[in-house]
Amino acid sequence: MMDLIKRLGLNKNEVGNQSHIEVNTSICKTCIDKPCIRVCPAETYEEDKEKGITVHYERCLECGAALYACPFGALEFKYPEKGVSYIYG
Ligand code: SF4
Repeated sequence: MMDLIKRLGLNKNEVGNQSHIEVNTSICKTCIDKPCIRVCPAETYEEDKEKGITVHYERCLECGAALYACPFGALEFKYPEKGVSYIYG
């Protein structure tokens, strides 16, 4: 049986041209702690001095951690244009 690390290596994400994560940056500008940055295992969120936060949606693993971590409801997820992640093999 294949171990977890090898199975995760089989994940394949196809990245669409549009972000599946929408952010209300007017809220993010006032968010001091920015927990989305700390909880995301894929480093999808990056602090931005002007916008409050920058989202690198192409890194998203769709785990949903940032949705639960955001105390202000500033994030909205849609299913990615190219669908969800699949495991091949
Ligand atoms: S935790 Fe929510 S409000 Fe704060 S920066 Fe992240 S998305 Fe914006």
